[in-house]
This record gives sequence, structure tokens and C-alpha cells, in this order.
Amino acid sequence: MVEHPQDNNSKNIVDYCELFSKIKVNKSKKRGEAPYKPILLLSVIDLISQDLIKTNKIYISDELINTFNRYWNILSPDSFNGGLALPFFHLKNDGFWKLKFSQEYDGGRPQTIPKLKEDVDYAIIDQELFELLQYNQSKEQLTDTLIAAWFLSSKKKLEDILNINQNLEINSSIEEKNKRIYFKKSIIRNAFFRKAIVHLYDYRCSVCRLKVIHSLTQSIVDGAHIKPLAKFYDNQVNNGISLCKNHHWAFDQGLFSLDENYRIIVAKCFIEESTNAKTIQDFQKELILLPKLEQHYPKLEAIQWHQKNVFRG
Ligand SMILES: [Zn+2]
Repeated sequence: MVEHPQDNNSKNIVDYCELFSKIKVNKSKKRGEAPYKPILLLSVIDLISQDLIKTNKIYISDELINTFNRYWNILSPDSFNGGLALPFFHLKNDGFWKLKFSQEYDGGRPQTIPKLKEDVDYAIIDQELFELLQYNQSKEQLTDTLIAAWFLSSKKKLEDILNINQNLEINSSIEEKNKRIYFKKSIIRNAFFRKAIVHLYDYRCSVCRLKVIHSLTQSIVDGAHIKPLAKFYDNQVNNGISLCKNHHWAFDQGLFSLDENYRIIVAKCFIEESTNAKTIQDFQKELILLPKLEQHYPKLEAIQWHQKNVFRG
């Protein structure tokens, strides 16, 4: 028997972002909101990214259980982990997750993993959602929504976010080839890096100070890597800088860089016209916006690398 949600009209990414940010979570007076379902969803997204979930049948596998526990320890370290059974079961009430019950299902609420495995063969998500999770851009947006809605609320202290980013750091002993694969697929880790960076810079571009936020996840500012992730796998906050879309592009193109005193240096080799806003050239020698604490400043080694290898000056 497969339960069908009532509203089966086709949904798009905006609908799913909305559903993800309104998941009904377990609340208790003593412990506050427990992010079981968001952590379960992040775990499912992670396994899809790693090709460990390839079809739209989400089994109660050891990989899923271990991933869930690992994320729990990092994202909710101070609270008791009651396990994956109940969120896996109750997510069926949130509009996109259905359960394929087993023949033996007795109508109860499985509280433990063995009982859940007995009662449920697997879960299925809406086909539209499953397809959105196959594409990097939509997968990123859905992940960012979950993280913004459930793990980076205004109540969350910056130190906690930085801690999470740090704890998601890869074990440096992983060999080079696997590192590359891991990084390419580590969508959750990258989402926390981006969030940590824009948070440190108060959601402003460090060059032009522009700040535009339009929803939980849509900001004009990106958390950019100074040394590219694909090459250095470095998600430490001091390999990051907060840049608006225009300045992010120009930085990656090498149209400007920074000197060792965090002043902007502009290349001479490009044509630029702007009638309304300041041009990139106008920022020559200006100091960038920096995080409050010096320990979060971009590291000089990364800046020097950018100057030498990307900057076209
Ligand atoms: Zn800017």
C-alpha cells in the first residue's frame, strides 16, 4: 500500500523550498525544536549526491542511518538523538514523502529502526522532487533552504556555524583521488561554507558593500572561494570572501585582486562602462570590508595565490 498525498498537482522548486521550510518538526518545551526531519532530508540529499541512492526508493539502509547520525552529531550536538525511525515515518505528513508499507504493517508508529524496517519497505519522494535533486543547481537551492530554515536561524550564534563548517572539514588523510570525488559531491559542506562566509561579512559584498536579501536563501552575495575549491578542496573560512554576483565574476576572471593589506588592485586590461554604479576601477586601492575578527580575514597565502595565478594585472 502506498499512501498518496492529497494534493498531487505538479510542484516546482519554489513549492518544494516552501515545503522544506515549513516541515512540521518535533517540539518540546524542554528541548525546543528537534531537527529530525531536516537532518533526514539532508542525509537523503547527501546519499543522492554520492550516487548511493540512485532510484526513487529510499531504503532504511546502513548508509542512511550512519549519515543521519553523523549529521546529527555535527548539526545538533547538544541534543539527544532519538534516531531516524520516527522522522522517517512522520515525514509522510509533509506533502512530498510517501511510504511503501510492508505486508506486516499493523497500523502503529514504529519507534525503533528494527520495527521501522519491519513496517516499511521504503519511502518514495514526489517524482518532481526526485528529479530536481538530480541537478546541481536545484539541489543546491533545496539544500540551502533546509540549512537556512533549520540550522542558521538568527538565534544561531556565528561560532556555532563556524564550528559546523569546521566539523564538516574533510579528513586530510583521504587520498587525493577520493578527495576530489568527495568534494565534488559534498553539497552540504559547501552550503555551510557559503553560509559561514556571507554571515561573517554581514551579507554584504566586501568590495561594494551591496546587501540584498530576498528570501531565506536568495541573497545577492555569494560566499566565494579565493583558491578554487575544485583544485584545493579548501573550505576553511579564511579561504573565503563575500562578493556580489558581479564582483564574484570579476574576481574569478582576475579583473581585480587584493594586495597584502586587503586593498583592491584592479587590472588594466579591460573595458568597463557604468553610468549609475561605481566601476571596478573606481575601487582601486580601497580597503575591502573585513569580518569583525582578524582570525576570519582572508589568509595572505590565498590572496597571494590569487594575485599570482588569477589576477590579470
Ligand atoms: Zn559587489
